[in-house]
Amino acid sequence: MSKIENLELLVVGGGPAGLSAALAAANYGIKVSLAEEREFLGGQLIKQTHRFFGSEKEYAGTRGIDILRKLIDEVNKNKNIEVLLSSRVLGIYEDNVVTILNDHKMKKYYPQSIIFATGASEKFLAFENNDLPGIFGAGAVQTLMNVYGVLPATNVLMIGSGNIGLIVSYQLLQAGVKVAAIVEAAPKIGGYSVHASKLRRLGVPILTSHTIKKAIGKEKVEGAVICELDSNWNEVKDTEQLIKCDAICLSVGLTPLVDLLKQRKVKTNYVSELGGYVPLRDENMETSIKNLFVAGDVSGIEEATAAMIEGQIAGLSVAKRIGKNNKREIEKRIEDAKNELELLRSGPVGKKIRKGLFKLGLNHGKNYNENFSEEALDISHLMKTGVPSEENLKNKLPSEEKVFDKGPIAISECFQRFPCDPCVKSCPFNAISENGNINNIPYVDFEKCTGCGICVSKCPGLAMFVVHKNFSETTSVVIMPYEFLPRPHRGEIVKVLDREGKYLCDGKVIRILDGKFQDKTAAVSIEIPKEYYLQARNFKVEE
Ligand code: SF4
Ligand code: SF4
Repeated sequence: MSKIENLELLVVGGGPAGLSAALAAANYGIKVSLAEEREFLGGQLIKQTHRFFGSEKEYAGTRGIDILRKLIDEVNKNKNIEVLLSSRVLGIYEDNVVTILNDHKMKKYYPQSIIFATGASEKFLAFENNDLPGIFGAGAVQTLMNVYGVLPATNVLMIGSGNIGLIVSYQLLQAGVKVAAIVEAAPKIGGYSVHASKLRRLGVPILTSHTIKKAIGKEKVEGAVICELDSNWNEVKDTEQLIKCDAICLSVGLTPLVDLLKQRKVKTNYVSELGGYVPLRDENMETSIKNLFVAGDVSGIEEATAAMIEGQIAGLSVAKRIGKNNKREIEKRIEDAKNELELLRSGPVGKKIRKGLFKLGLNHGKNYNENFSEEALDISHLMKTGVPSEENLKNKLPSEEKVFDKGPIAISECFQRFPCDPCVKSCPFNAISENGNINNIPYVDFEKCTGCGICVSKCPGLAMFVVHKNFSETTSVVIMPYEFLPRPHRGEIVKVLDREGKYLCDGKVIRILDGKFQDKTAAVSIEIPKEYYLQARNFKVEE
């Protein structure tokens, strides 16, 4: 019989929630063992080459992969954290003994507290021929491209327009893969509109109220048949169309990985808004079993920012309970983290999460205003197509045309209420405001804006542009964000595109800001014929 090792805190899962939980507890002197089944830490962060939304405190504006580097660096420096890589937790028993498989050896541990941050698995979709080679989950595509540097295909059809579907589509394009279309069964786009709009500007069609009927191909995927859906989710007759592609990527949701929790008989409820079966827990992330906590996607599917805050709450809660000092300070930090989480969830995009948490018995008495209008603007057209309406655009432009005469000014094409503020925080002239709430839509004060272009590179949604209407008698200049290779060079003539990726005119690159400060989101100034200053929002470099 092998010896049982005592632990103070075992954190299961080395993704954003697990890393944050381990650090939060270890920083208050708790001895933490962090078990990760893979041979590296990071969970989903390792694949996330895009910048995060959310609040500055939780790394808004920083790429997931860079957040991971920072967290790993902190973990490595922290003497209270022992990292157990390639360590799969196989079981947890009634006496809280945990078995971990490492290097073909089974070890037993007896932790005083456990935080489960085991994440989620991808959902699959039933359709004809869904077992053909060439059908991937979006997470698998991201792993192939961003972890192993392997392209999954040359022309992909994406199913699902949640943030993961939109982000992976963008990453496929960055890797040089064509995205034939994004198919979404719901009548509106599931992810953030800024992600959808940047794909539309690259010419990718987003087909809402559509679904996949079958995959076509003998040995592997050669195409897919899709069709339109009516408001009752029934197929609309004679709307079938064949889309040619050599891979189909499914991004149709995630399910919390609660198997170990169920093994330990943690109480769970089925809450569709949170992705499936989720553990009952209190606001400190403690489950129905004392000293057993959860954090991140295993407790309900949400953004990585929320996962990191939940990790902090769980880690701090353990430190408060079993640590010896700083109880007051820890309590204050837990309160701050809860308030931050509440703020992130308080806007329209947090409604689903709030509903799910309510079903778990959480958030009673919280001051969410469920009656505020869904959006400050009517963005139904934008959420259906990914392209803003004339009305949306008018709302963000100066009320008087003469404002353009003062020189370059920033135009924000961000129309949806969701938690994000790097534009506000990046402007050195305080020219962008969200009226004190991170969930509000950002507006530019054209009086204060100097047209410096800093916000163009800092916006994770690529939704900030600078327009210099009267650059010359006949030309305007638009500064656009650009995240593709090859970069254009100064003086190069490029194809200028509109918000649907359609060719508008040729433009001349007159300046490129692409240094450390821009952090791989170049700000490219393109000179164009004056008539296009309100339409030109993307460009293509001829290879
Ligand atoms: S262009 Fe410069 S001054 Fe204007 S809003 Fe952006 S960062 Fe602020
Ligand atoms: S414009 Fe501001 S709020 Fe909108 S995506 Fe960009 S940084 Fe976030």
